This record gives sequence, C-alpha cells and structure tokens, in this order.
Amino acid sequence: MRVVCIGEAMVEFFRRDDGLWQQGFAGDTLNTAWALRALLPAGVQVGYLTRIGTDAMSEALLALLRGAGLATDAVQRDARRTLGLYTIQTDAAGERSFAYWRSDSAARRLAADEAALRAGLAGADLVYLSGITLAILLPEDRARLLACLGRRGGRGFRLAFDPNIRPRLWEDMATAAEAVTAAARIADIVLPSADDEALAFGDADAGATRARYAALGAGLVVVKDGARPVLFAEAARSGQVAVPPAPQVVDTTGAGDAFNGALLAAVLQGRPVEAAIASAQRVAAQVIARRGALIEAAVLAEAGG
Ligand code: ADP
Repeated sequence: MRVVCIGEAMVEFFRRDDGLWQQGFAGDTLNTAWALRALLPAGVQVGYLTRIGTDAMSEALLALLRGAGLATDAVQRDARRTLGLYTIQTDAAGERSFAYWRSDSAARRLAADEAALRAGLAGADLVYLSGITLAILLPEDRARLLACLGRRGGRGFRLAFDPNIRPRLWEDMATAAEAVTAAARIADIVLPSADDEALAFGDADAGATRARYAALGAGLVVVKDGARPVLFAEAARSGQVAVPPAPQVVDTTGAGDAFNGALLAAVLQGRPVEAAIASAQRVAAQVIARRGALIEAAVLAEAGG
C-alpha cells in the first residue's frame, strides 16, 4: 500500500527565549505525512510529493524526510529555486507573530510538470492534499493538479482533502471558495475545520459545514471544531464524538494536521469511523501538549493505538 501527501515544507526559524534562532522544518502536509508514518505499519509506504531546491538546506529537508521513514521518490528538484521560509516569535505578552518568505519557493511549482506529478502519484492507494497546497500554486498549476487528481479513473486511489483555508495565501476569498469546492467535489474524504469554513463560506456552525461537504459527494466528512465535538457523516450515517479534555494546551500548531494523519491511518486499517476519530483526538491531544508540530513518532504511535 502507498500513501502520498502533496504540499510544501518550509524552513522554520523559531526565536528562543535566549534570543537565538532555532531552525527546523514545518508544513501542514508534512505534519500529516509524519503522523501517517508514525501510525501506519512499516509495510505501508508513506511518500511526500513536493518540490525543493538543490542547495544544502533542501538536502537537509530531504534528510529529515528520509530519517522519518518517508519515501522521497516523489520529491522534485528545482535548480533555480529553494525552500520557503518563515519565522515565529513571541512578544512580551505571549502573542505569537509569523513572517513568511515563500512567494517564489520551489514548492509553488510542484504541479508545473504533469509527467512528474503523474509519476509521483503512480501506485498510490490514498492521496492527501490540503487547501494550503492549492493556495500556493499558480492558477494554471492548480487546475493541472485538480485535473490530474480528478481523472484518476482506473488508477483507483482515494483522495483525502483538508481545505485548511488561510485567507492571506489566496488571491481573494471567492477564488479560495471556488478551488476548495472543486477539490472537495473530487475527494472521497473531506476533513475541514469549522472556524476556517465559517470564515470562507459563512457556515453557521460545524453542522452546516458537514452538510455542505456531504452534499458535494464525499463518502466521509469529518469536521474538527477545536475543543467542541468532532462531527462526521459517512454514507447514510452521521454523528459526533466529544473531544476528551486536554491535560495541557501548550501549542495548538499542527493539531488538525496530526488529527488528519491519525484519522486516515485508522480508516486505512479498517477501523470504524468513531474509533478512528477517537484515535485522532488522542494524537491531537499529544500535539497540543508540546511545542512544535512534529512530535516524536513513538508518542504519536502510543496515543493512536
Ligand atoms: P485545526 O488545527 O485544523 O484548526 P482544531 O483546532 O479544530 O483544528 O483541532 C483539531 C483537533 O485537535 C480537535 O478536533 C481536537 O481533537 C484537538 N483539539 C484542538 N484544540 C483542543 C483543545 N483546546 N482541547 C482538546 N482538544 C483540542
């Protein structure tokens, strides 16, 4: 079995209390791939489809992917561009601020080459895509990627999609809503977050988000809503699973992404949807109890099991 996550991993600089900058890597789809790798048996291949440079920082990301046990055959190389970068710092009042240098990153071209895209998706049983991935692409590349994923026909992979709507990455909200809806229409599994959806689509609550995506035809819709219950709809059945109280809330970055990875790992292993959601909630609770989004694989595996 092969799973492929499509997206951008960036260089992260985090300003520590002592004023020095600590460097790591981060990205929403990387977080999900990481959780999938931690939670799926070794016999299932989990790959990352992205585009990076040929420089040392790009090599360091490649080494991180390999070190995590992720397949890198779908990583494209761009001789003229490199990774995007962002910084996080916290002010005296504890408020975090972010700055981004990603407008010409190699990953923005990950769907420029149709043959490379097809090669990266070959043999996949499950493909995972987020709205952040769609947002960073040029309009013609976005259309190419959606067409390529939509025409899967006999290749028969399932498509999972988290709209992960970040208004400042999109040209405008109408474009975001249109692209997210187009992706959801071709997806089998849709994993939105209620707050993003209310902003982009004006949904009154998580139930409205669930109904809107279910009407677009996905076989499974799971709506995250922070500490509020997770709603689901599958085939002719819908319901909700309460979120267990989190022992500690340190940093919610990446909670939804890890939730998605854990949920998909459980679904791929044939677990019923309520059990899959409960596993995802336990994994998300571990992520929010620690700083950073990439949590030790053994911790995730224990929480998910
Ligand atoms: P996103 O990170 O995509 O915005 P959410 O904030 O809805 O997603 O969180 C995803 C999951 O993380 C939730 O469904 C829940 O399981 C867990 N979670 C998030 N915030 C909390 C919280 N304050 N207490 C307990 N669990 C939480």
